[in-house]
Amino acid sequence: MKYHVFISGAGPVGLVSALKLSQAGFKVTVFESSGELNRDLRASTFHPPTLDMLAPFGLTDDLIPMGLIARYTQQRDRQEGVIAEFDMALLKGDTDYPFRLQCEQWKLTQLIKKQLDQNPDVQILFNAKVESVTQNADRVTVDALVAGDQQQYHADYLIGADGAWSSVRASLGIEFEGFTYPERFLVISTTFPYENHLPHLSYVNYCSDPVEWCVLLKVPSLWRVLFPTKPEESDEEVLQDESVESRLQHLLHQEIPYKSEHRTLYKVHQRVAKQFKSGRVFLAGDSAHINNPLGGMGMNGGVHDAINLCDKLIEVVNLQKDASILERYERQRRTIAIEYINANTARNKKLLEEHDLTVRAKSQQELKAIASNPIAAKEYLRKTSMLDALERAESIE
Ligand SMILES: Cc1cc2nc3c(=O)[nH]c(=O)nc-3n(C[C@H](O)[C@H](O)[C@H](O)COP(=O)(O)OP(=O)(O)OC[C@H]3O[C@@H](n4cnc5c(N)ncnc54)[C@H](O)[C@@H]3O)c2cc1C
Repeated sequence: MKYHVFISGAGPVGLVSALKLSQAGFKVTVFESSGELNRDLRASTFHPPTLDMLAPFGLTDDLIPMGLIARYTQQRDRQEGVIAEFDMALLKGDTDYPFRLQCEQWKLTQLIKKQLDQNPDVQILFNAKVESVTQNADRVTVDALVAGDQQQYHADYLIGADGAWSSVRASLGIEFEGFTYPERFLVISTTFPYENHLPHLSYVNYCSDPVEWCVLLKVPSLWRVLFPTKPEESDEEVLQDESVESRLQHLLHQEIPYKSEHRTLYKVHQRVAKQFKSGRVFLAGDSAHINNPLGGMGMNGGVHDAINLCDKLIEVVNLQKDASILERYERQRRTIAIEYINANTARNKKLLEEHDLTVRAKSQQELKAIASNPIAAKEYLRKTSMLDALERAESIE
């Protein structure tokens, strides 16, 4: 009889898990509270090791033509321009994909769903909200609201990949430790061709400024500009046309008004769940850890969780390894979420917003020195592209 795994959430983490497990012979049921896959503009960066992990499924080859290859990333100063540029080609030999792929995360979930739809052992239930979870030594029971009906389901394991507000985490009473930043982040998407107006711009640009830092990221059809907002500004004030226009004009003055395609304002948190495993239930992705988007580590780290966890489930079920190896998932991935993902994204924010001019000058000097030394630059890129995090995870028994 096939082992049956429930997955709560059809985001990138839930669907990567579903694909990995179903290809290893598991029966998988995915519960998704929405009526369809999410198409919000969220993550837009795939780091090299994530592309390495997705390659065996044919997903990397499919994603590359749907995105932009970003060989260079830049640290800039809003007044002075480029401070340091990093060439990801230095990572050749450490990864098959020495670049960041700028591509919207919804393209990944759509591609995975196409593959899952071909597999009779996979069922994706839409309008299916997991509400609570109980378990005994042999199985997990999920109470879900499916198309308006309360239903009960049983399986061998459950992966809670149901995002930041995870019902699985809440049902297990697992604390989500950390904090929420007082300011919200605003992402404006525009078709304006910044590359023709800001000299030497790359596809990934972190622009520090003591008054208003920003990030400029290119995806195939748009530029996405991320700004912090002031805690005292209301949502309406931030999102109104005049204020969006004023932020864009302040970044780069234009005679004609900007055309913004999307505006998203969201709260930003640095939180890690106290446990990633409780009996036969696991948390992965945003349900286990959330962080600011500076460095693009949320979705990427979540996919790394999914692969790590599913590899272990496959070893336990298909190779009869002792179930105690599942505890290592928590030791490895929770450590990475705390020491690496949360620590680095928090540091990236501090670096961008630094007010102290002496500290700013010193960190810019350091960045310049790193970028001009290929050995130091490679070390820096291994850290920012999450290769080091995976090596560190492997070292944890
Ligand atoms: C504006 C923005 C920009 C970002 N940029 C980046 C970036 O460049 N790089 C990066 O790596 N990360 C980025 N992130 C973070 C990234 O989007 C998330 O880390 C990623 O979506 C996490 O994937 P997930 O599958 O864990 O959760 P989600 O994508 O949140 O998916 C969870 C799914 O679960 C469903 N669900 C929720 N509750 C239930 C329930 N009770 N029952 C059933 N289903 C449920 C939801 O509908 C959703 O489909 C960004 C986030 C935002 C908001």
